[in-house]
Amino acid sequence: MQKKIYVLDASAIIGGYYSKSNANFTTGEVILEIKDLKSSLLLQSAIEDGLIIVEEPENEDIAKTNKIIEESGDILRLSEVDQNLIALALKLKRKGNNPVVVTDDYSMQNTLKTINMAYRTVLTEGIKEIYNWVKICKGCKKKYPSDYSFEDCEICGSPVFKKRIKIKK
Ligand SMILES: [Zn+2]
Repeated sequence: MQKKIYVLDASAIIGGYYSKSNANFTTGEVILEIKDLKSSLLLQSAIEDGLIIVEEPENEDIAKTNKIIEESGDILRLSEVDQNLIALALKLKRKGNNPVVVTDDYSMQNTLKTINMAYRTVLTEGIKEIYNWVKICKGCKKKYPSDYSFEDCEICGSPVFKKRIKIKK
């Protein structure tokens, strides 16, 4: 059976839609598009934890993508980053995976439909795992919101530490 994997565009990453049970892939260019601090901190730790794997498409996949979108006219609407992400999905499929591209971009979805590549949107129901941060007291385990600005617990005075938690959508 082919392994189901997710290919994430910037909207997926900003939405925090990484699957924990399946591998998530994206390109270095997509990562450069993530500018807001909170998303890029989460992304950094997802990469460090091996949740998101950064991989680049190969020339043959880029050439194949270009040919398809020239024919469909989507070449005018897709950024180079988008094109290369589609090429990455083609590469991963060629290597025997079953990629699902996560994107809210209509032109992307249109192209993916054309090439019979599975996709899902970020904003509709999809991968129901979202990561968030909390702060937890080492002593009494009281939970604080991620923006709690003190280093000590207001109850027992023990240090608080940051922890990533999975929340259901
Ligand atoms: Zn405490």
